[in-house]
Amino acid sequence: MPLEEYRRKRDARRTPEPVPEADPVPGRDDRFVIQEHHARRLHWDVRLERDGVLASWAVPKGLPTDPETVRLAVRTEDHPIEYLEFSGEIPAGEYGGGAMTIWDAGTYETEKWNAREVIVRLRGERAVGRFVFIRTDRGRGRDTGGKDNWLLRRSDPVPDRAPLPHDTLPMLPTPGPLPEGDDWWLQVGFGGRRVIVRVEGGRARVTDADGEQPAVPRLRELGPSLGATAVLLDGELVGPPDRADLWIGDLLHLDGHDACALPFRERRALLEGLPLDGPHWKLAPVFPGGGPEVVAAAEQQGLPHVVAKRADSAYVPGRRSADWVEVASRDRRTAPRRP
Ligand code: MN
Repeated sequence: MPLEEYRRKRDARRTPEPVPEADPVPGRDDRFVIQEHHARRLHWDVRLERDGVLASWAVPKGLPTDPETVRLAVRTEDHPIEYLEFSGEIPAGEYGGGAMTIWDAGTYETEKWNAREVIVRLRGERAVGRFVFIRTDRGRGRDTGGKDNWLLRRSDPVPDRAPLPHDTLPMLPTPGPLPEGDDWWLQVGFGGRRVIVRVEGGRARVTDADGEQPAVPRLRELGPSLGATAVLLDGELVGPPDRADLWIGDLLHLDGHDACALPFRERRALLEGLPLDGPHWKLAPVFPGGGPEVVAAAEQQGLPHVVAKRADSAYVPGRRSADWVEVASRDRRTAPRRP
């Protein structure tokens, strides 16, 4: 019976999802939808119209963006065709409880479709390209709740797309006096642990200047809040590891584009366009052309320093640069030592 499993898992009185009574009617098999599903764990549901229903895979990290990346795709129950247009809030406690939005939709062409391999060309707004699903022999494992594991990769090359780097180190400032001039932008410093945060497929990973990867529980929702956006951020972790917050100071990569060569003023503008104002992560305040009054304000708030960044300077990972000057706040420089 088509859709039997789908209907069994849902109570039409409790979920806003479509639960049609009628049996599916086969159509042209050429429509697809990808939903971003903020369930207990963020994933993307890829659904392809097939024999009157939507063949579905849950992809924890979303569609791969380049041919080098292989992603897990867990086959889930067929969904009704009405689900092509579904978005909404599935109540907590119900199957798949959480917010679901349409990430992309469009048409597709089938190149191959059998029990072990599915090859399609997607033509959406965001999902464009040739994608290959391959069923693995390790399917029906306990870790996937008895569902089939498939691997998903993108097989056609993506022009002009830089991979999101691994193992990047933060750029370092040179200590010094406050430089003068409008081409210096002052960024408030918090004296925390310098880190690089890599976000991809809704997952964030923090690496410090020594290559350590601390667990930062307060940043758990940072990855999901960025959805499918891939970024590399420079920041400072402030506070003890289990209660650390993140102040974000710079941007190294955004969605397939290396940002390091851009001037700081452009990197900052890109940062300000991202949804990075969370409960435990925020952009560090920056004062373009700011002067001694910014250092004095930092001092008043007990902050250790201000970093003056040359507005037209590039980001040079892992290097100490004269384009960034760390200016100690007066408080720190002249505070009397207690005996
Ligand atoms: Mn789902």
